[in-house]
Amino acid sequence: MDYQNDFISLSRKELVKIMKDAMSQRRYRHVLRVEKTAIELAEKYNIDKEKVSIAALAHDYAKEKPDEEMRDLIISENLELDMLQFGSNIWHGPIGAVLMKNEYQLEDEDILEAIKYHTIGSPTMGEIAQIIYVADYIEPNRLHKGVDKARKLAEKDLSATVAYITRQTLKHLIDRKNKIYPKAVETYNAWVVEK
Ligand code: FE
Ligand code: FE
Repeated sequence: MDYQNDFISLSRKELVKIMKDAMSQRRYRHVLRVEKTAIELAEKYNIDKEKVSIAALAHDYAKEKPDEEMRDLIISENLELDMLQFGSNIWHGPIGAVLMKNEYQLEDEDILEAIKYHTIGSPTMGEIAQIIYVADYIEPNRLHKGVDKARKLAEKDLSATVAYITRQTLKHLIDRKNKIYPKAVETYNAWVVEK
């Protein structure tokens, strides 16, 4: 795909190279699968493929940054300080968005939001963010319990898929007695709880 708009001042090829250099080969391959899955969803739901491609390629940009660097950025960039009680799983989305903005002048709010919230979701995710959240969960190498149901749902109802994934993720954390980031509960309340 050639980028036709100015969402970022890089070609797709340049962006791919940046991601290849920023992470292990295993994670780089995951990123490419997320992009492919996300573009297929964008085609199905008639959503901007270029924004989806950029968000997908950049979503895990910060995942392998050292913890110390991420801690410092949470403070210097005035991110939510309650994140400090958690780990890189929670940090890498918001930090990735900050780094893409600072280092590559990525300003598009839809794309930044998608990178920021790809792990914990948010009550107000737009369509690009929903696609990345779903694609990250259902890309072909994922084996989570319920992933097949999520893949089926994603063929016909994007927001229902977001709800399903949110519920599965919280169930999984609770079953394992893992700590839950409070913002993930807000995502659950907005997307899963029946009104
Ligand atoms: Fe991630
Ligand atoms: Fe990912």
